[in-house]
Amino acid sequence: MRKGFLQFHVPDIGEEEIQVVLETLRSGWLTTGPKVKQFEENFAKYIGARHAIAVNSGTAALHLALDAVGVKEGDEVLVPTMTFAATAEVVLYLKAKPVLVDCQPGIFNIDPKEIEKKITKKTKAIIPVHFAGEPCDMDRIGEIARQHNLKVIEDAAHALPAKFKGRMIGTIGDITAFSFYATKNITTGEGGMITTDNDDYAEKMRIMSLHGISKDAWKRYTAEGSWYYEIQYPGYKYNMTDIAAAMGIQQLRKCDRFWEIRRQYAALYHDGFSDLPEITTPVVQNNVQHAWHLYVIQLDLERLRITRNEFIELLKKENIGTSVHFIPLHLHPYYRNTYGFKPSDFPNATGAYERIISLPLYPRMTEDDVQSVIEAVRKIVGQYSKPIGSSG
Ligand SMILES: *Cc1c(COP(=O)(O)O)cnc(C)c1O
Repeated sequence: MRKGFLQFHVPDIGEEEIQVVLETLRSGWLTTGPKVKQFEENFAKYIGARHAIAVNSGTAALHLALDAVGVKEGDEVLVPTMTFAATAEVVLYLKAKPVLVDCQPGIFNIDPKEIEKKITKKTKAIIPVHFAGEPCDMDRIGEIARQHNLKVIEDAAHALPAKFKGRMIGTIGDITAFSFYATKNITTGEGGMITTDNDDYAEKMRIMSLHGISKDAWKRYTAEGSWYYEIQYPGYKYNMTDIAAAMGIQQLRKCDRFWEIRRQYAALYHDGFSDLPEITTPVVQNNVQHAWHLYVIQLDLERLRITRNEFIELLKKENIGTSVHFIPLHLHPYYRNTYGFKPSDFPNATGAYERIISLPLYPRMTEDDVQSVIEAVRKIVGQYSKPIGSSG
């Protein structure tokens, strides 16, 4: 057994981030300023998007995106049930209705076949989530969106850096939302970024991210730093601080290196479990670059004498921290009570939920840490496996 507890996640903050945060604090410019502008420019270039708008969370990014494409009261927005709270709650912020959609069997991305079944006259947009960092089938989703005149807002909280058929995630849908929450592939503590190639959406989101205030009026007629501003809409307070952006600039420089380590560790896990019929490892589609935000294994409960929860407890006793992504939305009290969902309404997500465990996967881990996770999983499987078909 490994010595010392392996956390499920530890952010990789280096001296560079610490230095630039100190410099920013000393500069006197704490809120949105030159660092945010720089971070936006670097991010847009990295993704290959025309616009990047920095905000204070991924949730804010999603909210502004839906607002920009005109989602309003009475509209419906298709959201996977296999996601985090944020993806659906932003629909409710705009008094629209989140319509939950099941995931594909074996892959946890939204199922395009199920999308088609849920489209009505009221459907306005789809929010595909690139679960764990594996891109959704954006060809198929784009085709459905064109046929039904729907907007595509991508939830790319897990998908930096990811590619679908050579195209960077962040350049495909109408608008893409990224998150820099502490556990994400790069972090600013709290933060998010929105990318789009559409000038009108970008302008609207930029204005709405800071109280609906437009400064264009003064930009045209006066020198910088004018006191004059105009409120164009009742907006939000979603701007990023320069302190966060300073971190973000450094983290983005490391993004490819972080990804390379994630990819290597995912490959170690894959090899480490490949001979175990009790464990199903992630399926990666052809023609995609997986961002490896999460490494989610599925237990074959038919072959084990313990439940997923017991498996997690045993891993904890082996000093391994894990998590579960996600408890599908339709199983939560709010969605159950509001829409009367039953677990069987979303059979793929409900079935997956009983079997999934997210293993630690982050650049701060060492190869020995990865091996210790593999050993712990193998030990538990060895102790609790049962011949298929036997009872008890
Ligand atoms: C983390 C996450 C978000 C929200 O990001 P925040 O920056 O925490 O607001 C949205 N969607 C998914 C799938 C996430 O995992």
